[in-house]
Amino acid sequence: MDELYITKVNVKDVRFPTSLNLDGSDAMHTSPDYSCAYVTIRTNDENVEGYGLTFTCGRGTEIVVQACRVISKLIIGTKLSDIYHDFAACWRMITSDPQLRWLGPEKGVMHLATAALVNGLWDLWARIESKPLWKLLVDMSPEQLISCIDFRYITDAITKDEAVAMLRANSSRRAELESSLRATGLPAYTTQIGWLGYGDEQLRSLCAKYLAQGYKAFKAKVGQDLDSDLRRCEIIRKAIGYEKDLMVDANQVWDVDQAVDWMKNLAKFKLKWIEEPTSPDDVAGHAKIREQLRPFGIGVATGEMCANRVMFKQLLQMKAIDYCQIDSARIGGINEILAVYLMAKKFQVPVCPHAGGVGLCEMVQHLQMWDYICLSGTSRNRMIEYVDQQHEHFENPTVIKNAHYMPPTSYGYSTKMKEESLRKYEYPHGTEWQRMIHENIFPAPE
Ligand SMILES: [Mg+2]
Repeated sequence: MDELYITKVNVKDVRFPTSLNLDGSDAMHTSPDYSCAYVTIRTNDENVEGYGLTFTCGRGTEIVVQACRVISKLIIGTKLSDIYHDFAACWRMITSDPQLRWLGPEKGVMHLATAALVNGLWDLWARIESKPLWKLLVDMSPEQLISCIDFRYITDAITKDEAVAMLRANSSRRAELESSLRATGLPAYTTQIGWLGYGDEQLRSLCAKYLAQGYKAFKAKVGQDLDSDLRRCEIIRKAIGYEKDLMVDANQVWDVDQAVDWMKNLAKFKLKWIEEPTSPDDVAGHAKIREQLRPFGIGVATGEMCANRVMFKQLLQMKAIDYCQIDSARIGGINEILAVYLMAKKFQVPVCPHAGGVGLCEMVQHLQMWDYICLSGTSRNRMIEYVDQQHEHFENPTVIKNAHYMPPTSYGYSTKMKEESLRKYEYPHGTEWQRMIHENIFPAPE
């Protein structure tokens, strides 16, 4: 690795026309085209490359792509050994550039771009070490793992020494937990049944389909219309029974009091959690909703649009959430997500990662597997979201067996997309986009 340095970073705008079937539709994102800003990090050895991405919903991906290009200039020419020897320092350099940080800091487009680039750096590292990413993390000593994390702004919640102690506490069980992971994987739940744009018949048949595949937990979108939510929850409970877990997700559509009132109406369906009931920035609002829904047995979950580790810290400190939903393509990539896992462990909140968007299932499984072996030591009350979309575009797609994520065996972070998919779906010049624009299925870009 000593001889390797970064020569070039290539960024592509890749979009899939999911709005045509309303796949992924929810109360706020009514017609998303699931997309990503896709980063390829090249080195002076043409056989050594890393791939990273951040998820987007269509329009605006070009802005994230531009941000990726600007940020990537910060690492071009850097030796890989310098990056990985003190990864926290590199992460801080990327997120604290004295001019660029004005555009964030550590939030919004710039932080999405940071995630894409940082995810690519981790993929590159795991490929060089010839390990799947989860195994790279698992094989690190507590001190080495901690050296990747920037603790600025969170030391009032967790110190480096506490983090090392938590990681050490589990070390004697690592081998046993790794072999149980390899044997059975980690539990998944499905969100595929209940996109808001799907009709009742489709809802019924998807419930039957995923029940037959062994799923024990299901999630549906809510929040556009109460009567329709009541009807849809009724249909789902009829199909899956009351023994299985059912969660609902409002994707930030409500005010705080409205969220409480709406959920009281749905409480009879025995819901495990309400996800994103209100603005992702409203820590006090989440705390209030949690407090008021506790008598109804409904937990509060959020995190997929949480801006950074500081927001997560506040959600945990203020006891605002029952489930912490990290997202692999948000906040500043793996380095910052590790900090959130450590804080969640300290505050005893289980992490149930968000996934489903392009590449999110592929990436986040690695992190939850590391957590299982090195930190939480259990899969109790924890599961990873699963959505059966866009996996075919990845060289090493997720492997689900009996509704469990099985540990990836190929090297890297499972982020490499197929060349053919890039040729077809790069926006707007990919062959599929050219066809759809030509056939007036989509307008030509401005
Ligand atoms: Mg969600």
